Amino acid sequence: MHSDCIFCKILKGDIPSFVVYEDEYFKVILDRFPASRGHVLILPKAHYQDMFELPVEISARLYPLANHIAKGIKEAVQAEGINVIQNNGEAAGQSVFHFHMHLIPRFKNDQVVLNKTSNMEITLEELAKTAELIKSYL
Ligand SMILES: [Zn+2]
Repeated sequence: MHSDCIFCKILKGDIPSFVVYEDEYFKVILDRFPASRGHVLILPKAHYQDMFELPVEISARLYPLANHIAKGIKEAVQAEGINVIQNNGEAAGQSVFHFHMHLIPRFKNDQVVLNKTSNMEITLEELAKTAELIKSYL
């Protein structure tokens, strides 16, 4: 647990989030500034800076979980595709230094640009509805 890490604060519950899935090792939350509706972040509960710090036993559980969540999101928002994005290091575009994997629903001609500047504004009510919708497909 790192006191200056925003994801550790979210995992601890000090900062509220919309959780769509949780188990012993991971929490999956909605991105507060999503690239598209249904954009989630898979967070290991323990603080690892990036994939280079991720223990193999956590790493081995990650993709099966990502697969499960992606299938649920695809159904929930009727996505035509999903981007799986995971940045390691500032040079690679990582901005929060607690390992996280993005799952971003995509639609043909959706105009999504994967660089944060185009991320949508979404109300807390819309986020809450989206979280409930995704949960119902997991
Ligand atoms: Zn952290």
